[in-house]
Amino acid sequence: MALPATLRTQNPDPKDGAGQPGTEKPGRFGDFGGAFVPEILHPVLEDLKAAWAEAQTDDAYWAEYRRLLKDYVGRPTPLTRLDRLTERLGGATVWAKREDLCHTGAHKINNAVGQVLLARRMGKARIIAETGAGQHGVATATACALFGVECVVYMGAEDVERQHLNVQRMRLLGATVRTATSGSRTLKDATNEAFRDWVSNPEDTYYIIGSAIGPHPYPAMVRELHRVIGDETRRQLADATSRETPDAVVACVGGGSNAIGIWAPFLEDEGVRLIGVEAAGEGLGGRHAATLSRGEPAVFHGTRTMLLQDADGQVEIAHSVSAGLDYPGVGPQHAHLAATGRVEVRTATDREAMAGVQLLSETEGIIPALETAHAVAALPALAEELGEGADLVFNCSGRGDKDMATISEWLDRDAD
Ligand SMILES: *Cc1c(COP(=O)(O)O)cnc(C)c1O
Repeated sequence: MALPATLRTQNPDPKDGAGQPGTEKPGRFGDFGGAFVPEILHPVLEDLKAAWAEAQTDDAYWAEYRRLLKDYVGRPTPLTRLDRLTERLGGATVWAKREDLCHTGAHKINNAVGQVLLARRMGKARIIAETGAGQHGVATATACALFGVECVVYMGAEDVERQHLNVQRMRLLGATVRTATSGSRTLKDATNEAFRDWVSNPEDTYYIIGSAIGPHPYPAMVRELHRVIGDETRRQLADATSRETPDAVVACVGGGSNAIGIWAPFLEDEGVRLIGVEAAGEGLGGRHAATLSRGEPAVFHGTRTMLLQDADGQVEIAHSVSAGLDYPGVGPQHAHLAATGRVEVRTATDREAMAGVQLLSETEGIIPALETAHAVAALPALAEELGEGADLVFNCSGRGDKDMATISEWLDRDAD
């Protein structure tokens, strides 16, 4: 029987080794972050840290990365002023950062390209990845095809079913898709399988993590590879409005890569409100994926972060209608930003996300991904709160093509 919450053995206390508040250890975000991996992976992570540190200060690395973002990914993506949505909501001016227009349909390719370039620098012959919605798998398989590198993608059986088209895309791109059939058969289990593979092949294999999660240096590296989203936003808004910064920047938070990417250049600007929207699934009383809102500190997938767990400390099965938000953990920097109050955390249910899909589609002719639709769902209240004359930016992290089967099922059911 489960113990009452007050008596239960909690995961390590925030001050218990994992996080030393006040110290600026690399890879730590306040009480969160670090690298908690099997010993066999220590040298592999050390190599990765060294290679990333070297690449970060190498102009040639960034020149190649920027060239690919421009000529292959299609950057810069536009910052679109959403006039009809703004009028409909009757408050702040709403802007969309159009990551849906990136090659492959979402922001994830920024990170995949950057990490494949790093893997090549390191002389790794084989790349592995885990994927939830299939978007990171597609982005990774795409970047691997671009360079002719071997690619293996782990995906939960449930997601293989939900995102069949993305599975076919990955295969077409030459990747091997391996199905994870353990546990909840979703992203968490695919990640476990990918770690297992990495432990067995540490020499020749590079593991591309698809969000700002995992052991150091991944969360910081993934943030830096997505920072381009925020850098462009800042420049584009200044060009369009002659304002230095917006009043608020909204993003959906799964693992947190699109959010930290668009927020990174605004973290020091106290006047800019940063709002993260998590998946409340069927509602916070039922199955959901609202990790920052309802999780507890724990070590998960190599990092100390917030985690959804049951009374016995077991990882809870997350639920969201969007496969990309269906993850019981979250990036450690997000855990820190939420704990310190720098980021405001809100939630949207499956139903609210569906309404978000419809709202953006009808008013602007943009069909967002279901993940993105969670950020859209937060816009009406925020536009009203901020009021006319304020600028409200949201990260339009991806397009909805991949979700059309799920969306049409909902719409059909609702019509009954
Ligand atoms: C994967 C995905 C997300 C969630 O991942 P983050 O790392 O939180 O950004 C959000 N939007 C889209 C379109 C995605 O594909």
